[in-house]
Amino acid sequence: MADHSSDALRVLAVAAHPDDIELKCAGTLAKYARRGGVVIIAIATDGSAGHLTIPADELARIRRVEAQRAASLIGGEFHWLGFRDEFLFEDVATRLRFADLIRVAKPDLILTHDPMDYHPDHRAVSRLMFDASFICTLPNVKTEHPAHLGARPLYYFDTPNGLNFTPTEYVDITETYETKRTMLECHASQLEWIKGRDGTTMADAMYIAARWRGLQCGVTYAEGFRAETVHPRVRSYRLLP
Ligand SMILES: [Zn+2]
Repeated sequence: MADHSSDALRVLAVAAHPDDIELKCAGTLAKYARRGGVVIIAIATDGSAGHLTIPADELARIRRVEAQRAASLIGGEFHWLGFRDEFLFEDVATRLRFADLIRVAKPDLILTHDPMDYHPDHRAVSRLMFDASFICTLPNVKTEHPAHLGARPLYYFDTPNGLNFTPTEYVDITETYETKRTMLECHASQLEWIKGRDGTTMADAMYIAARWRGLQCGVTYAEGFRAETVHPRVRSYRLLP
């Protein structure tokens, strides 16, 4: 475990789909990276349902490349878990896979979806990370990599359009917003069809959310988080940058 500074920490961000990271926490991850931290990004599903016309297998290949390219812009370590988009469920094997991810990453803190997010895969990832972040500490729970002691603190990132989510902590991402925007642009397969579906571009939605959270905490751009407060994840010091 690193000291109490938010510099040079190991941060593990786990999202359900390629592009969730960029929308919700890329500014914060970029800030960690700038400060010498180690950023580890994991995408749980293959994103194969995220288009109207591109076939699933081809789309999964495209989206993996897009997500990896985005992660590389901040020097992030990249993990592609490859579960089927829209059908992520918590069973023994899946929970163990998530526990092993945490054992490999050895994070000082974890960022993931809010348990009350709108999407079933988002909620599944949230639950899996909550459960795995405890069992990964138990040596008798066997996975490919050995257990480490101490459950890691969890922070939930914002929901789409901030609905039903009140941050308990904010990160000023004014200095890294441009990087966040560039990372989102890597997801070229998503930009057009989402615009048709939602009536706005992802870039616009991201901009409005970042300005809105920024307004709430007195800066230009911000990302909001909610600390998980159950035993033994609570810390007396700030881990967000
Ligand atoms: Zn998603």
